[in-house]
Amino acid sequence: MKAAVDIRRAVFLDRDGILIRDDGVVSRLEGIDVLPGVPSALKRLKEAGLALPVVSNQSVVARGVLTESEVKELQAEVERRILQAGGPALDGFYFCPHHPKGTLEAYRSHCDCRKPGIGLLTRAAGDLGVDLQSSFMVGDRPTDIVAGRRAGCRTVWVQTGQHAAPLIETAEPMPADVQADHVCADLAAAVDWILSQP
Ligand SMILES: [Mg+2]
Ligand SMILES: [Zn+2]
Repeated sequence: MKAAVDIRRAVFLDRDGILIRDDGVVSRLEGIDVLPGVPSALKRLKEAGLALPVVSNQSVVARGVLTESEVKELQAEVERRILQAGGPALDGFYFCPHHPKGTLEAYRSHCDCRKPGIGLLTRAAGDLGVDLQSSFMVGDRPTDIVAGRRAGCRTVWVQTGQHAAPLIETAEPMPADVQADHVCADLAAAVDWILSQP
């Protein structure tokens, strides 16, 4: 008999402001800037057996700034640079192209995937066979933290990017008081905390 059942865990990663610098809209290959310490921090998670899906709101699509395939090209470049810097392969890129007030009608919707919705997390968890309760969400916006909590994950609020920016537009009102399980300065510190958790 097996002593324990293997539970697959993930760290759901917001992209902009966590993996790369978030200067507003990331829309050009030249504008991609992987944040210091990210490749080695990701490597530690991967070596600890955690899956690393990226979950990202990309309302640039609904606003007609980038097509879905351009968003995927940018992501491929982000992943290439992480690999080049000694980081691991990531476990999928899940993005929401919608916006409640998008200029492109096809993407103007109150979807369930735009964070703080949990659609991206549940889709990734299904694909990867991951247990949400044993997993973590790392993000820089309150909407990331709310999405992670709603999905049943432990949450880490990283103060590298847009943590103090005005709230993004959401389909439903955000809770007044957003509390993360841990708050820290960057992804490396988030990884220290995650790897210290039971
Ligand atoms: Mg972000
Ligand atoms: Zn969506």
